[in-house]
Amino acid sequence: MLAHLFFLLVIGGALGMLTWSFLRIYRNIKLLKNPYPIKEIGTRLKMLWDVAILQKKIMRFPIVGFIHAMVFWGFLMVTFGTVEMFLDGTLGVVFDDSFENDRVLGFLGPLYTLMMALGDVFAYVILAFVLVFLVRRASKGVQRFTGVEMRHKDHLDAAISLIFIIFLMVSLIGLNLSYLAYAEALGKTPEGAYPISGLLFGILPESWGPEGFHRLEMASWWLHVGLVFAFMNYLPYSKHFHVFMALPNVFLAKTGPITRMSTMESVKKEVLLMMNPDAPAPTEEEAAPERFGMKDVQDGSWKNYIDSLTCTQCGRCTSVCPANNTGKLLSPRKIILDYRRRMEEKQDGLQKNGKDYDDGKSLYGDYITKEEIWACTTCHACVQECPVNIDHVSIIMDLRRYVYLEESDAPSSINAMNTNLENNGAPWQYSPSDRFNWADELYIADKQTA
Ligand code: SF4
Ligand code: SF4
Repeated sequence: MLAHLFFLLVIGGALGMLTWSFLRIYRNIKLLKNPYPIKEIGTRLKMLWDVAILQKKIMRFPIVGFIHAMVFWGFLMVTFGTVEMFLDGTLGVVFDDSFENDRVLGFLGPLYTLMMALGDVFAYVILAFVLVFLVRRASKGVQRFTGVEMRHKDHLDAAISLIFIIFLMVSLIGLNLSYLAYAEALGKTPEGAYPISGLLFGILPESWGPEGFHRLEMASWWLHVGLVFAFMNYLPYSKHFHVFMALPNVFLAKTGPITRMSTMESVKKEVLLMMNPDAPAPTEEEAAPERFGMKDVQDGSWKNYIDSLTCTQCGRCTSVCPANNTGKLLSPRKIILDYRRRMEEKQDGLQKNGKDYDDGKSLYGDYITKEEIWACTTCHACVQECPVNIDHVSIIMDLRRYVYLEESDAPSSINAMNTNLENNGAPWQYSPSDRFNWADELYIADKQTA
C-alpha cells in the first residue's frame, strides 16, 4: 500500500515535470511564425515511414545505419514493456505479493507474448550497441563528433544519455531474469516469452530462493521505472531530445524539393505589382512586416525551433558542407545549435515580456557571424544528409535577408552585382549597349556590316 502510494507520487511528479517542460516549449512555439500550412498528409506519412521508421537515410551507411536502426526499433519495442510497467504500478498490481495477475496487459495473449519476446531480445541488442556507441565516442576516432560548436558539456551530455540507456537496459534484463527465476522457483508459468533471458536466468544462484528472486525483481523494477522517469525529464534539456522529437520533426518537414526556398510574401507582392499594376496590392500588414528575415530567434518559425530541438549533434551536415570542407567558418550544425542555445537563453524573457523583449543580444552578431552566413552556397547538402530532416538553409537565408534588407550590410560582391542589375539589367558592369561588342570581330558581324 505504501509502495503503491509512493509510486503514484513519483509518477505524478515525473509526468508533472515533463508536462511543464513541454508547456515551456509550446509557449515558445506559439511566439513563432508559421512557415507553411501542414497539408499533404499522405506525403508526410510516406516521409515519416521512409526517413524515421525505415531509417532509409542513415541506412546508406550499412554498418552504422544498421546499428542505429536496431537501437531505434528496439526502443519502440521496449516502450511497450515500459507502458505496461507504468500501468502495473499505477493500478498497484505489481506491489501485490501474489505472482498471478501482476501483468495487466497479459490479457492481450499472443500479442503480449510477441511484444515481451521482442522487448527481451532488443534489451540485449540495445545494450550491446549502446556500449559500441560509447566506446566509439570515447575513442575520439570519429571526426564529425568534433567541431567548434561541440563544447565539453555536449560531449558529457552524450555520455550521460548513453549511460542512462545502459542502466535502463541492465535493469530491464535484471527484471526479466529475476521474474523468470521467481516463476520457476514457485513452479508457475511466467506471463509472456523471454527468448534470451529464458536461456540465461539460470545464472542467478538457486540458493537465493523465491524470496531472493522476488527482491531482485522488485529492485530491478524500481530501478527501471526510476531511470525512465529521470531520463524522460532529462531529455528535453539534452541532445537526446530527438527520442521525442524525431518523428514529429520528420512529419512536419518541408515537402517537395529540398532546395525550394520560401519567398518573402511582402516582397513578392511588391514585385508583382511593379510588373502588373492590376495585381492585388499587399495589405498593410504584408507591406510592412515587423522584420525582414531573422535577426533573433523570435523572428524564426516554429519549424526552425523544433529543428533545433531535434538535432542529434551527429555532425553529418557539417561533414558534407562544401564551405566547411574548404576551411570556411560555416558549420550547419553550429547554426542549428546556436538557434537552440539562443532560445534557451532568451525564452524566459520572451515568455514574460512577449516577442518584443530585448536583452541586448541577438542570434545574428552574438551567435552567428556575417562571415558564416555568407559562406553558404545554398547547395542543401546539409539538409539532404540530415537523418531527421532538419532545414539549416532556411535559417541562413532568413539571417541573410535581415542583413541585406535591414542592415544593408551585404558583402561588397553582392552589392556590386545589385548595382549592375539596377543600372545595366545584368550582373556585369557593362552597359547594355556594349552587350554585343564580343561579336564585332566575328564573321557574322562583318557580313551584317557589309
Ligand atoms: S547549404 Fe550551405 S550550410 Fe548547407 S551544406 Fe551547402 S554550403 Fe553548407
Ligand atoms: S542538423 Fe541533422 S545532420 Fe546536422 S548534426 Fe543535427 S541531426 Fe546531425
